[in-house]
Amino acid sequence: MGLFNSRKTVFVDSDVLIIGGGFGGCGAAYESRYWGRDLKVVIVEKANIERSGAVAQGLYAINCYMGMQWGENQPEDHVRYARNDLMGLVREDLGYDIARHVDSSVHMFEEWGLPIMKDEETGRYKREGKWQIMIHGESYKPIVAEAARKAATKVYNRVMVTHLLMDVTRPNRVAGAVGFSVRDGNFYVFRSKTVIVTAGGASHIFKPHSVGEGMGRTWYAPWSSASAYALPIQVGAKMTQMENRIVLTRFKDGYGPVGAYFLHLKTYTENAYGDNYEATWYQSIKDMVGDYVEHQPVPTCLRNHAFLQEVKAGRGPIRMVTKEAFKDPEKETVGWENFLGMTIGQAVVWASQNIDPKETNPELVMSEPYVMGSHATCSGAWASGPEDYAPADYQWGYNRMMTVEGLFGAGDTIGGTAHKFSSGSFTEGRIAGKAAVKFIKDLGNDQPEVSETEVENLKTTVYQPMENYAIGRNEITAGTVSPSYLLPIQGLQRLEKIMDEYVGGIGSNYLTNEPMLTRGLELLSMLKEDLPHLGAEDLHQLMRAWELQHRVLASECVTQHTMFREETRWPGYYYRADHPKLDDTDWHCFTLSRYDPESGDWAMEKAPVHHIID
Ligand SMILES: Cc1cc2nc3c(=O)[nH]c(=O)nc-3n(C[C@H](O)[C@H](O)[C@H](O)COP(=O)(O)OP(=O)(O)OC[C@H]3O[C@@H](n4cnc5c(N)ncnc54)[C@H](O)[C@@H]3O)c2cc1C
Repeated sequence: MGLFNSRKTVFVDSDVLIIGGGFGGCGAAYESRYWGRDLKVVIVEKANIERSGAVAQGLYAINCYMGMQWGENQPEDHVRYARNDLMGLVREDLGYDIARHVDSSVHMFEEWGLPIMKDEETGRYKREGKWQIMIHGESYKPIVAEAARKAATKVYNRVMVTHLLMDVTRPNRVAGAVGFSVRDGNFYVFRSKTVIVTAGGASHIFKPHSVGEGMGRTWYAPWSSASAYALPIQVGAKMTQMENRIVLTRFKDGYGPVGAYFLHLKTYTENAYGDNYEATWYQSIKDMVGDYVEHQPVPTCLRNHAFLQEVKAGRGPIRMVTKEAFKDPEKETVGWENFLGMTIGQAVVWASQNIDPKETNPELVMSEPYVMGSHATCSGAWASGPEDYAPADYQWGYNRMMTVEGLFGAGDTIGGTAHKFSSGSFTEGRIAGKAAVKFIKDLGNDQPEVSETEVENLKTTVYQPMENYAIGRNEITAGTVSPSYLLPIQGLQRLEKIMDEYVGGIGSNYLTNEPMLTRGLELLSMLKEDLPHLGAEDLHQLMRAWELQHRVLASECVTQHTMFREETRWPGYYYRADHPKLDDTDWHCFTLSRYDPESGDWAMEKAPVHHIID
């Protein structure tokens, strides 16, 4: 107890506060410094930016590179690609904005020391696919983090942000954030003119395939805990496309990526009897989505649909045919290096299960759903678009500013812009950083003010789980069961079960309907009633407690959106069994939500999808 009695409050003032030092955050720091030489740029990160975020382990490919210097692709091509993959619904203004700048980000990565593979004959970057270039990327994150570290005035590692702060006089103006150090327990109050949220996506809101001691093995990073969504939601920022969760085909148990296998090694899938099954499901898909089935490349969700139906028909497991490709020593090397550069766990799983891909075609699996904004999916905050390109109703001020004044975002945080990946997230961070600096310069001396009472109240709230534990720990009835508190892991498992069973997880075959969603919302509200009784025995558990709080709020948002969209837009990601078809007449639109922090109510609306590119 002595340690926590001496808990200090540390005040930090900045012009630009960046929450999360992953790819979006590093881009935001770099560009804020470029445009704001004399500004105070602060990064706050719950881990250590050296190895934090979804790219922590490294990557083997940069998935978003146009290659404009060689005339390979143009930004318009990328918008068409993302729009097609998302069944028509993307923010074309935001996507175009990233695509036109992304190559310059990749060129900087190379300048900073990232080894990018080259085609020996042409001298161009070696392509894995139309948009992907191959890298030796084990150190991708440290290389990019070094540039951000040099750009930032200060980086606060090991500080988890729990809440945003608002201005005392203007209720829709952000003024900073609070959080705590997961190392020494100090309370941090960040007062800032602008805030850029770049806190990654959300894993572990749906029950994963691996439970118990294997639960850390998910596809998206287990530390992606939905802060990117909960922080803006808590202060009433509008969110978009939160129903558009993603489900991925991956190698079973290790979630090893399949992109390099399909694109570079030219491997393919077959059912348990050696048959190509995709064509079997053509008519079933056409019945659901009409002409979208003819689109090339076939949208990710529709390929998932064929996989799921084949397994349901009893002809699983689905396998990746690796035996042929692995006969070629060069391809075999690429196959293994692909894992060693970013998902070592998959190689270990194969070794432990006696799978040599030269001898055995490995099993694939359809993952549990994840919520994120940078992959083949586009959940996130509703943001203002670029001045020179966005339609009038997508613009209310500064590029990438949310519907809250002074609050910006990038990467997984921002909705409507699928397929940005690592390079696009970094680029979007740069765009947000530049706009935040412009916002500050336009402001002159206008400094938001933080309420001392609010800060004191939040300090009590943030540490409440430790107080609950300290008071209740002697009442343990059995094992870890206490009558007066619940542990973060218990709350997490309850959340995952609700989402899995009612909102379209693996346990319900990705199916849901209005009555299930209604019941899901009831159970979520009961879970929310219990959250003030979380108990945390140490600072690590305190972080888990706040991660859970963020996951629950984001899950509620996902459920509200899933209820609102009365169609099945992305079969293979989830199915509204009561509205089993795609409905372009009523639902060729974005879904928007706004949470009222005072009442706890959600307001839903539609926003038009503007097709800017032919
Ligand atoms: C398994 C996997 C494979 C991928 N493969 C590829 C690939 O091959 N090629 C490619 O280009 N892209 C790939 N990506 C995508 C890429 O990693 C993401 O698009 C990108 O990292 C998103 O950037 P971000 O800044 O939004 O999130 P992140 O990079 O995840 O950064 C978020 C940061 O916020 C921090 N944070 C979270 N909550 C808080 C909080 N409350 N307080 C303080 N800090 C917080 C986190 O610790 C983290 O550092 C892959 C991702 C995964 C998970």
